[in-house]
Amino acid sequence: MTAKITMTTPLVEMNGDEMTRILWQWIKETLIQPYVDLNTEYYDLSLEKRDASNDQITTEAALATKKYGVAVKCATITPNAQRMKEYSLKEMWKSPNATIRSILDGTIFRTPIIVDSVKPFVSTWKKPITIARHAYGDIYKDVEYRVEAPGKAELVFTGENGEVRQTIFEFKGPGLLMSMHNLDRSIQSFARSCFNFALDRKQDLWFSAKDTISKTYDGTFKEIFQQLYEQDYKEKFEAAGIQYFYTLIDDAIARVIRSEGGFIWACKNYDGDVMSDMVATAFGSLAMMTSVLVSPDGYYEFEAAHGTVTRHYYQYQKGTETSTNPMATIFAWTGALKKRGELDGIPELARFADALEQAAIQTIEDGVMTKDLADLSLLSQKKVLNSQAFLSEIRQRLDKILS
Ligand code: NAP
Ligand code: MG
Repeated sequence: MTAKITMTTPLVEMNGDEMTRILWQWIKETLIQPYVDLNTEYYDLSLEKRDASNDQITTEAALATKKYGVAVKCATITPNAQRMKEYSLKEMWKSPNATIRSILDGTIFRTPIIVDSVKPFVSTWKKPITIARHAYGDIYKDVEYRVEAPGKAELVFTGENGEVRQTIFEFKGPGLLMSMHNLDRSIQSFARSCFNFALDRKQDLWFSAKDTISKTYDGTFKEIFQQLYEQDYKEKFEAAGIQYFYTLIDDAIARVIRSEGGFIWACKNYDGDVMSDMVATAFGSLAMMTSVLVSPDGYYEFEAAHGTVTRHYYQYQKGTETSTNPMATIFAWTGALKKRGELDGIPELARFADALEQAAIQTIEDGVMTKDLADLSLLSQKKVLNSQAFLSEIRQRLDKILS
């Protein structure tokens, strides 16, 4: 066996909860540590450790990502009332992803892992479609009001130089009101993350909104994208042979469905929420969806799009074997190692990550897979394995590729 690959800069490793925490360990032991002299700065974001540190550990992990540039994260529990009881929590801590995102100020890109034997429900799709969702403002930070009786609703802005007042509607009876906001700064950083990601992947970038109806709100999104594109990205896009284009959200949907895939689709917050579920489902399985947070300053945090797979974990705790799909978590590791290799000039590390991805896909194409995929795969011969046996099959193929 050849020597292990050496890393020069630590990768920020954020461990998590439940079944994905179990997979995390198995993936490292089986597929990474035998080949890479893994250099990580380790943060345990399990719910117990977050509670014990009053959630300081999450902030520290995010700050470490700013320091080193690349992180890989395991899925984590977002506490709710039931989890408060289950883990006797001191507080209902915020979602770690929300905390990390607010520190790094990034955009989340979700890309499906494509295998030939699992056909997307949309027959024209051949290549992955990445959804970039703006993760600030709009209805997620709105103010809503239930109108019970007649009255006049006004939009009032009190600025340093006085007041602006506009009538929204004169209510004759009950109805509804809602107000939303957004920030130029946030839209600009969203746009920059999208342009940078498109250059990184060498894929076209589409941005869609509804500026024909929402002339000021959506119109400003469109303008900010266009302005930054002309100013900072046009030349780079032309040099890379890729395109940026804006289109109305309805037109975008029609084009996406008729497309072959292979592009990045930037969406406003709500559109991205809805469309990412549509795209994920249409590509086959949530277990095959990767996710990366890219900050406008060029920091990366890689993870799987799915959660901690609680139902499987409860089975595992009872001693039952589970066939949980590790693909998206493996690809979080390969994405992070590849980026680390690129930034540090260690081509062997990027080559190893590519080989691991290839081995994982090859395993599924050979008809060896976890239960979730067996229901979707078109292959006539299928071998359904538990998670550990599936990882061993990947390892055998990886050894062949690397030898
Ligand atoms: P989930 O963990 O994504 O699992 C939902 C269901 O999807 C599973 O029960 C399973 O279906 C299927 N599934 C998801 N990933 C799979 C995989 N890798 N292999 C096979 N099947 C898979 O979502 P959830 O149950 O709603 O949430 C569980 C916990 O995860 C929650 O505490 C939530 O807060 C947390 N969460 C974290 C993140 C994150 O850290 N990024 C994201 C989402 C949710 P079957 O049961 O039918 O087999
Ligand atoms: Mg959603």
